[in-house]
Amino acid sequence: MQMNFTGDEDRQALKALRSPDESRDDVLRRFVRLASQSLGIPGSFISVLDDEHQHVQAAHNFALAQSSREDSLCRHAVDGDTAVIVPDTWLDNRFATHPLITGAPYIRFYAGVPLKYQGGVVVGTLCVTDTAPHPFNAEQMVTLKLLAALVTSFLEAWHAASFTDPVTGLPNSQRLIRDLQFLATSEDLAPRRLVLIDCIDMPRAYELARSMGMGPVESLLKDVATLLPLRLRPASGDMLYTVATGRFALLTRDNSHLTADWVASKLAGISADLGEGIAVALATHTGEVTFTPDEISAQEALRRAVSALHEAIARGASSMRFNQCADTRHTRDFTLIHELASALREDNGLWLAWQPKICLHSGKPVGLEALIRWRHPQRGELSPAQFLPLAEQTELLSALTVWVTDRVIERLSRLRNSGIQLPVTINISSDDFSRQDFADVLEMKMIKAKLPTSLLGIECLETERIIESPSAIKGLEMLKLRGFGISLDDFGTGYSNISYLRRMPLDIIKLDRTLISKISSDTASRIIARSIIGMLKELDYTVLAEGVENAETVTALAEYGCDQVQGFFYSRPLPEVELDKWLSWKLRDQC
Ligand code: C2E
Ligand code: MG
Ligand code: MG
Repeated sequence: MQMNFTGDEDRQALKALRSPDESRDDVLRRFVRLASQSLGIPGSFISVLDDEHQHVQAAHNFALAQSSREDSLCRHAVDGDTAVIVPDTWLDNRFATHPLITGAPYIRFYAGVPLKYQGGVVVGTLCVTDTAPHPFNAEQMVTLKLLAALVTSFLEAWHAASFTDPVTGLPNSQRLIRDLQFLATSEDLAPRRLVLIDCIDMPRAYELARSMGMGPVESLLKDVATLLPLRLRPASGDMLYTVATGRFALLTRDNSHLTADWVASKLAGISADLGEGIAVALATHTGEVTFTPDEISAQEALRRAVSALHEAIARGASSMRFNQCADTRHTRDFTLIHELASALREDNGLWLAWQPKICLHSGKPVGLEALIRWRHPQRGELSPAQFLPLAEQTELLSALTVWVTDRVIERLSRLRNSGIQLPVTINISSDDFSRQDFADVLEMKMIKAKLPTSLLGIECLETERIIESPSAIKGLEMLKLRGFGISLDDFGTGYSNISYLRRMPLDIIKLDRTLISKISSDTASRIIARSIIGMLKELDYTVLAEGVENAETVTALAEYGCDQVQGFFYSRPLPEVELDKWLSWKLRDQC
């Protein structure tokens, strides 16, 4: 497939040559030195000509970096597509009064040969030059032409290698960027569509490479690259690229039938060959963006297509179009995660709120729950719901757990120093306590702070994940064995199969607010809450009701045999100083 940039191939080739590449220019410098040495002419250079300028790309004994195209001698070789020999510029009417002849670099002798690619594009010249006149015989001309052919072959190979994916042989992402940049400057500004295609599960492919080596994975990639044009049948102006390992891009016109949706449907259910007769089923996701080439940058077009593709992958959809709202949300989330990482690193902005738990029999505080808060410099106070779900997708959650644990242990030490022994619970995800050394590390921290482990409690969610994970169950057992109290949080939401509870080493069951919020007004809720509490008590758990907001609920819960309560009726989660005041007020009768 070729893109029809009619008459524009030259400009693309020139642009590529003008892009910085020290290793390419180093080779070009060697070529010009060789030209001077083999031809016995002191100066030599390779020039690249665009519409307005001559750029000296590599030079030997020739002190000119750039001139106007008009003034350059090379333009005669390029425009005429032929070798030009000027033995003495002073004697040549075309050049006698030219600024580069009458002034620096005082060109007196010039012989130049065009550098012409196989497709016919002439990018510049290879020339030899001197400040003195020279004869130039046919044999020297043959040598110069031979050298020019070598330079051209080298540049073509450089061109192909830098813009082609070595495995699939398709144009690569640099080429895509270059084509997009080029489109923005071309006259054809019709809207375009960029479709990104992911059809290989790369983590799985690398897993295959682990046992079979890279060979089969490369066969797979090649096979897919062959399969795509056969299935999609792109038009002659469309371009197919390999933009990353296992990821392809299709650049087409906005009115083409090749939409992300269509591409995904055409690729549904296909498989590719790993070699040795092993076929792998491919699961395709596609993402597309449509744009007018001069309105957004090449990088932005590609970024938007990636955003659409990743949205499709995240949602398990086969295809998605770029969506500004989803993109903005994602960028915002990404920034927030980044900021959370620095808040944790610099210990700046995160703080804990403390919510008391009350014993229903005595009316006294029996513990505290530590709840994370984030005072964001621009967005103000953030609740866990605004940042925890994002942290949960990253390694940050365990860093956050460490931060919370350390602050809670400091708090426990201060409480002990004031003669108060109140256990504090922290909320921990199963990923945390599934880690082998979690209980050991926690125990060490408590020992170092000279605190009994019974003062620190763990609140865990996600019953289903815990039940299904032997390492999570093991982690909980280790915590229990070391004396930490274990509570099951949010009981009554999601997965609450009571028979499974017996597999977990639990001390306290925390009834979710949704289970008890209507017991003062709704008979069915009352029956459910009463039965659940009765059952949990029979199973010998301590039962704590969360989210208690009024006196009627307290009365009903006490009647049903609930042990502890927590909620706004007693206290909202409190900042440090307010907690101190609240505790001294609540505990004063005990002292
Ligand atoms: P949770 O552990 O179930 O905490 C109880 C939530 O209910 C808290 O919300 C608390 O402020 C709120 N709450 C307490 N009493 C009442 C009440 O009477 N009425 C109402 N409407 N709400 C009440 P918060 O602080 O926003 O925390 C939400 C969740 O975030 C927590 O639910 C917990 O799962 C998670 N979380 C909080 N801190 C941490 C933490 O440090 N680490 C982890 N991993 N999760 C945390
Ligand atoms: Mg909790
Ligand atoms: Mg809860």
